Amino acid sequence: MGPPGAGKGTQAVVVAARLAVPHISTGDIFRANVEHATPLGVEAKRYMDAGEYVPDSVTNAMVRDRLAHPDATPGFLLDGYPRTPAQVEQLDGMLGTADVALDHVLELTVDTEEIVARLLKRAVEQGRADDTEDVIRRRMQVYAEQTEPLTSLYTRRNLLVRVDGMGEVEDVTARVLSALGVAGP
Ligand code: AMP
Repeated sequence: MGPPGAGKGTQAVVVAARLAVPHISTGDIFRANVEHATPLGVEAKRYMDAGEYVPDSVTNAMVRDRLAHPDATPGFLLDGYPRTPAQVEQLDGMLGTADVALDHVLELTVDTEEIVARLLKRAVEQGRADDTEDVIRRRMQVYAEQTEPLTSLYTRRNLLVRVDGMGEVEDVTARVLSALGVAGP
């Protein structure tokens, strides 16, 4: 978990490789669908371009399908999901049915100023349609309203691990791995 620009995607790639589990990013799956203009992509794009969340029913069905892939049986790293209470509820159901449980919920914390600077830089580097200033602002607001409250829920479940996401990518990775109890290289 973490606001847009906290470095979730960057860190998730490294951590998933280190743990040898699939990196399941709902944002990446949506973007791939947008690129290939699938019906899911056409539906998702409207929301993504505005900085809004894609409806829970669409997102939950997509994650359910992805988690059913055999590569996710030994474990998985979810990046950018769950983001709403309804997604938490659905995920709980999926995990319960499969008789598995989350080991950790990781939250990356970053200063607001740093986030805006990072996202504007990413806009130039990657050309993401949702990295314009207005949309960034809306995404941060949506995160604060809908997703940030989920951290208290996961704290109550004793799953939340909070890691400082400021600084160099490698330093944050080291903090994340250590917080997850994974030994360094
Ligand atoms: P991300 O790459 O994680 O920042 O996601 C980019 C965009 O994809 C978000 O701003 C949402 O529009 C959409 N998205 C990604 N994950 C979710 C989710 N779990 N629920 C709803 N929308 C999502």
